Amino acid sequence: MIKQPTLTNELVELDKKHFIHPTSSIKEQQANGPAIIFKEGKGVYLTDVNGQTYIEGMASLWNVNIGYGRKELAQAAQEQMEKLAFSSCFATFSNEPAIRLAEKIAQITPGDLNAVFFTSGGSESNDTAYKLVRHYWKLKGLPNKSKIISRQKAYHGVAVGATSATGIEGFQNMTSSLAPDFLHVDPFSTEAVRAIIEQEGADQIAAFIAEPIQGAGGVNIPSNEYFQEIRQICDEHNILLIADEVITGFGRTGKMFACEHWNVVPDVMLIAKGVTSGYIPLGGVVIREKLHKEFIELSEGTLLHGFTYSGHPTSCAVGLRNIQIIEEENLVENSRKMGEELHKQLKSLQSELPVIGEVRSLGLIGALEIVKNQKTNERFPTKVSALVVSEARKRGLILRTVTFNEADTIVFAPPLIINKQEIEKVFEILRASIIEVTKNL
Ligand code: PMP
Repeated sequence: MIKQPTLTNELVELDKKHFIHPTSSIKEQQANGPAIIFKEGKGVYLTDVNGQTYIEGMASLWNVNIGYGRKELAQAAQEQMEKLAFSSCFATFSNEPAIRLAEKIAQITPGDLNAVFFTSGGSESNDTAYKLVRHYWKLKGLPNKSKIISRQKAYHGVAVGATSATGIEGFQNMTSSLAPDFLHVDPFSTEAVRAIIEQEGADQIAAFIAEPIQGAGGVNIPSNEYFQEIRQICDEHNILLIADEVITGFGRTGKMFACEHWNVVPDVMLIAKGVTSGYIPLGGVVIREKLHKEFIELSEGTLLHGFTYSGHPTSCAVGLRNIQIIEEENLVENSRKMGEELHKQLKSLQSELPVIGEVRSLGLIGALEIVKNQKTNERFPTKVSALVVSEARKRGLILRTVTFNEADTIVFAPPLIINKQEIEKVFEILRASIIEVTKNL
């Protein structure tokens, strides 16, 4: 009898042959096939095509804030698709979900961040922001203000501009050339920002961009003073402040937006991911009323920047429903409360296991460092975090690592709906995985 290929085997072969994966090792895919083929999600749990379940420690890519399987979002998409799935917003055409979502974002973002340019994701939001701030200075008669100061270890996406702003070498080295006029400074030092402004001249600088908490760079949390000082420096030198809240927005850190922790209102805020909890692609660039007014006053003719999907009615309808759920279910508060639980668990693991170095978290975003020596921070010769994450996966837990340069880091960003028992489960599996992997090192 001929053995029938199983569905899994068939999918693995087709994946290898036809699917080029984002941010993945092509060699590894060809050797082992896709790591997991997911089939379903419910709450904080995922199930793969073989029926194995996993608890989600990363909300996929830091974005499935309200958890999986929410019928309300499916319903919002269905209703909108049946009414008007898509229509363009070019040439001032408009649609109700885009208008309503823009209003909602204006309400929930801090200060006078009141007007939104919609994109399809974080990278587009970044490239849009760089063009808008340069356009702004051009309209103001200061076209030389074009340089963008970014930070080492920053991650801003993979469009050419966003890659150029990114401060992680691997991403930057992938191609032979990048966009000009991006500068990178030490991510924790305001002195470094002052120094580069001095060196380059404020009249050459359009904007400073930062993630309030660096995500892909290893969950790096600034000091309490950092962003207030940055705000002050930007004001002193007539430089616009862009906050990339693509990961940190929509409740991730225990506030609706992370810059609220330090009472800082950026001139431009970038959003994506959590705006729809990843159910459908959507992003945006939110600008302060003052800037919006200046654009209205100074602009002439057509703003020659727009994505086909800017203001996509179905995406916007899903975004609106998603934000309602975050509000109705107090998920920002849950993120804050469960964040304390996450922090406790990190601390307790650190005091128990000698291979855990620094731990850090704010709300439901966190990280732990794997070290050979807790006192000296000496690292193991191999990236132990990668082994731990792979062991955890076998045991039914999804986590991610950050391993560029020195880093040997495990990062956390569970869905905001997670409860205490589920956090305990994450740490139970993680603890067992670390013990298993490090017992022979
Ligand atoms: N900015 C930040 C801070 C991000 O973390 C990401 C994605 N991880 C992006 C931008 C890029 O977003 P996207 O992948 O949706 O283009």
